[in-house]
Amino acid sequence: MTPDLSRRSLLALGAGLGATALSTPVFARAPKLGTQAPYFHRFKLGDAEVTIVSDGPLPLGDPTGTFTGVPKEEVAKMLTDNFLSPTNVVLEQNSPIVNFGDRLVLFDTGMGASKAFGPTTGRLTRSMAEAGIKPDDIDAIVCSHAYIDHIGGIVDDAGKVLFPNAQVYLAQSDFDFWTDESKLGSPLKDFVLHARKNLMPVRDRIKFFKDGEQFLPGITAISAPGHTVGHTIFNVDSGGKSFVFLGDLTHHQILLLEKPRMEFAYDSDPKQAAATRVKLLDTIAANKTPVMSYHFPWPGFGNIAKAGDGFRYYAQPMQMQL
Ligand SMILES: [Zn+2]
Repeated sequence: MTPDLSRRSLLALGAGLGATALSTPVFARAPKLGTQAPYFHRFKLGDAEVTIVSDGPLPLGDPTGTFTGVPKEEVAKMLTDNFLSPTNVVLEQNSPIVNFGDRLVLFDTGMGASKAFGPTTGRLTRSMAEAGIKPDDIDAIVCSHAYIDHIGGIVDDAGKVLFPNAQVYLAQSDFDFWTDESKLGSPLKDFVLHARKNLMPVRDRIKFFKDGEQFLPGITAISAPGHTVGHTIFNVDSGGKSFVFLGDLTHHQILLLEKPRMEFAYDSDPKQAAATRVKLLDTIAANKTPVMSYHFPWPGFGNIAKAGDGFRYYAQPMQMQL
């Protein structure tokens, strides 16, 4: 707009409003809409297109007893210093779907029908519909581990497989551990029931990957044990660009990065998980590889750098033009 046009527009606006309109403001009184933007975000990775879809927020509640090995007052201060609730830690569930052109790959599937963490989870297929992606078109489901919030969306409440054309990829040690019926009498019962409900119906479609194996073009397994015995993160690359899908290497962008040796109660082996976390985050920070984090704030795409004795997360700006 030239200065001339601008001035003319302003003059026209003033003339149109007239003297009475200027002294008597009229408000639109638009109704509140109460709806949110669709729960997906899309970006390019080399030659591939990545669509992050959400299974919805997963509230862990009070961090006391969940994030351990650090005094609870210190945990509360870390949260309040970062303007986060000290009494309700909320994780997101960000699943990337990578379209390599000849293959559509979904990473982790959310809580599914389980409401163990309240009503906000379980919207994966709804988010996919919002993103225009059909479950029938998913060729592969890559699972970081066999926990409730990562494999829970493979079947619906009635046990029907939601992704009828997908191969499922998982570490064999995790499959064996979490589908083991002998653990049904142990405190792990609910996890085992949930894993069996989701994995047994696709048992003949599960392929096991090995540490360091590029088991699909552009996807390489990196063993990250501790959270579970077979927990795995993945290097995803296309056209010279890459990110690491972190699975549950770190659950929280402040607590388990600033103090990466803090322990997390849901870890099968918290000490091993912490050692794995520090080792792999060191490598990721040194290589400056972008990360796609399952549990970080929506949409979970950014970078991790070393900071003091720990790490710091830098969210990448959402790119709203492809
Ligand atoms: Zn998780």
